[in-house]
Amino acid sequence: MIPHPETWLRVTPQGLHCLPADLWIDPPRPVPRAVITHGHADHARPGHAAVLATPETLAIMRARMGEAAAGGSQQALPPGERLDLGGVTLWLAPAGHVLGSAQVVLEWRGARAVVSGDYKRQPDPTCRGFEPVPCDVFVTEATFALPVFRHPPPAHEVAKLLRSLALFPERTHVIGAYALGKAQRLIALLRAAGWQAPVYLHGALLPLCRLYQEFGIELGELRPATIADKAALRGAIVLAPPSAIADRWARRLEDPVVCMASGWMRVRQRAKQGGVELPLVISDHADWDDLNRTIDEVGAPEVWVTHGRDDALVHALAQRGIRGRALHLVGLGEDDEAVHAA
Ligand SMILES: [Zn+2]
Ligand SMILES: [Zn+2]
Repeated sequence: MIPHPETWLRVTPQGLHCLPADLWIDPPRPVPRAVITHGHADHARPGHAAVLATPETLAIMRARMGEAAAGGSQQALPPGERLDLGGVTLWLAPAGHVLGSAQVVLEWRGARAVVSGDYKRQPDPTCRGFEPVPCDVFVTEATFALPVFRHPPPAHEVAKLLRSLALFPERTHVIGAYALGKAQRLIALLRAAGWQAPVYLHGALLPLCRLYQEFGIELGELRPATIADKAALRGAIVLAPPSAIADRWARRLEDPVVCMASGWMRVRQRAKQGGVELPLVISDHADWDDLNRTIDEVGAPEVWVTHGRDDALVHALAQRGIRGRALHLVGLGEDDEAVHAA
């Protein structure tokens, strides 16, 4: 008899625990052994005794939290390479979310569960694309799991930005974009759209952009944005963390056009509340259609939802004869996009 994944993959106060392998996936608290899907703060926490992740995710964790906090013993596992842990076969598959992001595939006694972490299906030149893995249980997020969330093609949003720059060549366009993933993707999208001028960065965005470049991601010329030299920033694109958009930093620029790149910009009210003049609907999370398409592609008869709009997704699954289960995992969904860009 094949044991149901419910019996060996359990929700504990430390997060999702794989019993036979004795490891936790994206645990919110320090554990003896963790596997980390990607470097966002709600998934990658400091202080685990042993950490398993892609080489890129480990590098991101070291850059963000320092060598020691990133994990006592760090094991890099490139996507597709298989490990045996207590009879469990574990491997990572690309998730298309940010550099190094991965789904965790767990196979035990004939059953396969896939914990997808955060993911998206839109192409992203700064990370490997999502690879659907057929499974018995698919564990998914549901950040944008409402039919109202349909992300437009990112090139369409970048074209909006470039039109505004052509219209207001004297104004500084300052864009809120979170430091891991969104900033680098936006720069790559701008380059693909033909923007060759230097892109200016708030100091908080520089280290991870450099790290992306070290991994071979082409971002073109990047310069630190110095508020003192406002004149140089006229007609330029400046990227800053969403928190700097919300406070005075961005307003100190000369006649800025305040922009924000986030899936939440689909909601007009959110843009207005944040004082965003030019909302750009660019998200690193799957939208409603892509969540449902992905669930169809992996063919799982059962889907577990970690966080987000689990009610709407579980309801939609039931209508298609798929058993949905809300896990209500704590601490997730508090990544930069979910919080600051709200
Ligand atoms: Zn994330
Ligand atoms: Zn997340």
